[in-house]
Amino acid sequence: MGPFTVNEEWLEAFRGFLESSTYAVAFTGAGVSAESGIPTFRGDEGIWREYPPAVYGNLPGLALAFLFRRRRLARLASEVLTTLLEASPNPCHHALARLEREGPLRAVITQNVDDLHRVAGSMRVLELHGNAFRLRCSRCGLRMDVDRDKALEARDRLLQPGISRRGLLAALMEYAGACGACGGRTRPDVVLFGESLPVDTMNQAMEEASRCDLLLVLGTSSMVYPAAVIPRMALESGAKLVEVNPNASSISSRAHLRIPLPAGVFFASYLERLT
Ligand code: NAD
Repeated sequence: MGPFTVNEEWLEAFRGFLESSTYAVAFTGAGVSAESGIPTFRGDEGIWREYPPAVYGNLPGLALAFLFRRRRLARLASEVLTTLLEASPNPCHHALARLEREGPLRAVITQNVDDLHRVAGSMRVLELHGNAFRLRCSRCGLRMDVDRDKALEARDRLLQPGISRRGLLAALMEYAGACGACGGRTRPDVVLFGESLPVDTMNQAMEEASRCDLLLVLGTSSMVYPAAVIPRMALESGAKLVEVNPNASSISSRAHLRIPLPAGVFFASYLERLT
């Protein structure tokens, strides 16, 4: 990513905030995965432009797309699967895992569904919008991990030219088959537009926000509610706020330290200085 210079003063200030914290929490958004190859929704390559959320971001819209725009739906599903399957953690994900192991980070609250915090080794991850590598049974609620090899097979089926409705259904079933416990239908365990956030996870996240003395706000516009209450709650409870984001966000003016860099670039330097 572009010619960014990591200023030593930012690194010094960042270390200072970590040293005076006993309970830090990170709040992350799509931006932390941008350098892992997953585009943000609203950025220049934002997928909302090509696939409007009114059609593709909710279950009724997806059902209609299945009936009337199946090739476009197949293309969207294969693109999303390819992007997610090919992504691997970047220095920001790795640094957060390390800060949890070595202190003072206690939890990562994420709006991302890409599983990269866990893959990097973060242990306490509160996923406000779910996880695309997990399925949920619509009947009994059981959650199960997605088999990544099966997801790859589903992606390959989706790429068949001139896919039929039956072919599309078979590909989708390859990814999300029947529930192992009750035989019910499963779906990706992600929060679509108009759906509620998982209540327990949101409650835990709000508790963490009110408890922490330092909140790292990384790669999020902090505009998507209710997740965006997290930085505001932390501030109300007296926490210091450090933001890493190359663009100003809705919370920038209230940050105690603002680092205007891509998160991967900044944390690569941070990790480098540790070794
Ligand atoms: P957003 O698209 O609203 O904002 C992304 C933010 O990231 C912007 O403020 C942008 O300036 C910043 N950014 C871009 N590149 C960056 C980088 N390299 N380093 C640091 N910051 C960078 O994203 P959002 O606030 O997370 O909200 C959109 C919703 O879409 C989220 O709630 C999330 O659920 C979902 N989403 C998830 C993924 C994913 O799982 N990786 C990807 C796209 C969208």
